Amino acid sequence: MLKFIFLIGLVYIGLKIYKSWSRLNVAVNRTVSGMARGEIDDVMVKDPYCHVYFPKRNGVHFKNNGEVFYFCSKECKDLYIQEMNKK
Ligand SMILES: [Zn+2]
Repeated sequence: MLKFIFLIGLVYIGLKIYKSWSRLNVAVNRTVSGMARGEIDDVMVKDPYCHVYFPKRNGVHFKNNGEVFYFCSKECKDLYIQEMNKK
């Protein structure tokens, strides 16, 4: 009988931990979606290669003839340069 009560207690504690953990996840998700809507104090720029908007400070920049381009990732930057060189 004591073992049974112990098990119930264990499940209860486990549920409590799980609940606080999922609450934390919700908070993180809210921050991420807030960022996607551009609510944070940062400039959103468009990737000229994949046409995705992202915060400028997270981007990879590339200078070409005095013009600065911002890319969401190094891959996009490399692919864009490749495309440019093909023309
Ligand atoms: Zn991109």
